[in-house]
Amino acid sequence: MRRSILASALLLCTALPLQAATPTTIPDAALKTADTLRAQALADDTGWKVTESLTTEVGPRLAGSEADARAVAWAQAKFKELGFDKVWTEPVTFPKWERRSENAQVTGAHAQPLVVTALGGSAGGTVEAQIVRFPDLAALQAAPEGSLAGKIAFVDFQMQKKLDGGDYRYGGGIRGRGPSEAIKKGALGFLMRSAGTTPHRVVNTGITRYEAGLTPIPAAAVSIPDADQLARLVKLGPVTVKLALDCGWDGEATSYNVIGEITGRSKPKEIVLTGGHLDSWDLGTGAIDDAAGIGISMAAAHLVAKQRPARTIRVVAFANEEQGLYGGQAYAKAHAKEIKQHVIAAESDFGAGHIYAFDSNAADHAKGAIEAIAGALKPLDVAHKPGTGDPESDIGPMAQLGMTWAFLGHDGTNYFDLHHNADDTLDKIDPKDLAQNVAAYAVFLYLASEAKGDFGSTPKAAPAKPGH
Ligand SMILES: [Zn+2]
Repeated sequence: MRRSILASALLLCTALPLQAATPTTIPDAALKTADTLRAQALADDTGWKVTESLTTEVGPRLAGSEADARAVAWAQAKFKELGFDKVWTEPVTFPKWERRSENAQVTGAHAQPLVVTALGGSAGGTVEAQIVRFPDLAALQAAPEGSLAGKIAFVDFQMQKKLDGGDYRYGGGIRGRGPSEAIKKGALGFLMRSAGTTPHRVVNTGITRYEAGLTPIPAAAVSIPDADQLARLVKLGPVTVKLALDCGWDGEATSYNVIGEITGRSKPKEIVLTGGHLDSWDLGTGAIDDAAGIGISMAAAHLVAKQRPARTIRVVAFANEEQGLYGGQAYAKAHAKEIKQHVIAAESDFGAGHIYAFDSNAADHAKGAIEAIAGALKPLDVAHKPGTGDPESDIGPMAQLGMTWAFLGHDGTNYFDLHHNADDTLDKIDPKDLAQNVAAYAVFLYLASEAKGDFGSTPKAAPAKPGH
């Protein structure tokens, strides 16, 4: 209380230079407990069991589907089973998209089936037309107006494997903006090489968005071997493809952010936040994306609970991340006035690969505490890499409002072999890596909860909208 009065006084006396904040520190006793916690977590299989339970008992859980509702019930029950002190839900409403059927084939002299999947948000419809191949999005954007009239655009860009998954900005960009660019050139349909890295004949879906004012066209991805096949066929002459998608938007749905808390022993109103997203795409069972994030965050908080953390540990199983961060935005809207209470947050939404990097945007006065946490993560082979991370998707909206974030970076080399495709199943997760993930989160959550002082969460004015 005294500190907030002092802070208000400082805000009023803007003529006075701001006093440097007291450095935030991590007590030695907490660092010692973190050693125990790390060892416990590495030998514990709660993260695996939670991930197995969600992917097995619920399976795929497209936002707004019947399975999504079962996932909400599952998360509430799982928090209670794991002994969380408080469990509740907060509603999240969004447009509902459905996939009903999808198929495509090459027609004409080289007729043969293609393995395709509709992009999330795609319009339904059947089109049969010649394809025009573009090596990347820029080439499609450079095509003359009207040049794709009566044609299907085919963007044939291959993502490369990267530790940080960096090529997704191109692959995901094609998926997001490609269909609108194709419509502007007059195309009847849109095809893209899967935004992925697997040589297997599975296809990566994911949300696309049509620009306002454009009439949506059917938009789909083809598997990488099928894209190779199309590229070879195009060299032989004109290629005609028939694409038939039955899918589309169907009203609104309401799902829920499911929240579980371990009440802090001495600072119950101060929150260290973690989580993952509860929804998934519908082709696999959403194991790496993002049952793993749910398993890691629930298990880490459950292990930390045994050490009776000073601050409250809050785990959020976010609703509908996949179709546009609806859960993260709803959370930020509901908790916009509580930025300062959210002392720091880290979300797991990049699979279950070995965590190799730690970063945070904590304020200067908390740098020492961040270094101490980095030191406690080092035995897990996690390196302190300032300037490399960012807040994961669902905590992004709160971070924009001024909440301090931390980043625990998973090795993403193989992430896009599985991301949003039918191969995203439990067997792809290495239990040892998952235990390391849980250990890293447990150490972070516990030490952040025990830190003497804050990490710099401060409400920020919303950025001015262009034109205002
Ligand atoms: Zn995800």
